[in-house]
Amino acid sequence: MLKQQMLYEGKGKKLFATDDMDLVIAEFKDDLTAFNAEKKGNEAGKGELNCQISTILFELLEKNGIKTHFVKRLDVQNMLCKKVSIIPIEVVVRNIATGSLTKRLGIPEGNVLSQTLVEFYYKDDALGDPLINDEHCKILSIVSDDRDLEFLKSQARQVNAVLKDFFDLKNLRLVDFKLEFGRDKDGHIILADEISPDSCRLWDKQTNEKLDKDRFRQDLGSVKVAYEEVLKRISK
Ligand code: UDP
Repeated sequence: MLKQQMLYEGKGKKLFATDDMDLVIAEFKDDLTAFNAEKKGNEAGKGELNCQISTILFELLEKNGIKTHFVKRLDVQNMLCKKVSIIPIEVVVRNIATGSLTKRLGIPEGNVLSQTLVEFYYKDDALGDPLINDEHCKILSIVSDDRDLEFLKSQARQVNAVLKDFFDLKNLRLVDFKLEFGRDKDGHIILADEISPDSCRLWDKQTNEKLDKDRFRQDLGSVKVAYEEVLKRISK
């Protein structure tokens, strides 16, 4: 597979064209950003870890019937993916209150939610990725009808069910995470982007130690050491 011109550079990945029109290569970067890129950093090796963690999780989801853009991992830092057109919604799934949820609604940090919460945020850096509801999605023409929104929500819940049980076996609590979906060449909605400690909150089951990007957000110590621990646990 030939890596050709760069199509796009995001905060966590670069996307490259390939010699197949329907496939792209995602190169995972070592850069770290938080608070809408107001805080920036970099840790050598972080990209490789996220590429490996994402590979394990996409393979797990595919095995459980979730359609994703993942094709295969090419090497430590590069993943071959189906080309999709990203739907500009960040789908956030929450099991435990923390982060913006506690700030917005005053739910105490660490409270287990009485039911899984699925939220939509409008993927727009200039607007600061605002929280939106189903009606906003339609007014903004992000999706054409309710069926797509219901599909996104049900996919997100299924992903949560698979990942939560999997992480639980690895002694990790899946606190919350963000998903992105895209449309493939046939117009089907499939899971895209990445699933890694950059986009998930993972706490150790016994100690609640944070093993995710909150270490960077809150200056809690090495991101790489934590992501290595996550990879070690889920590789077993
Ligand atoms: N998240 C993400 N990218 C974003 C915003 C959030 O990956 O642009 C993830 C974040 O890592 C967490 C979940 O989505 O796992 C919920 O984040 P929250 O809304 O609490 O945002 P934050 O606390 O980062 O402001």
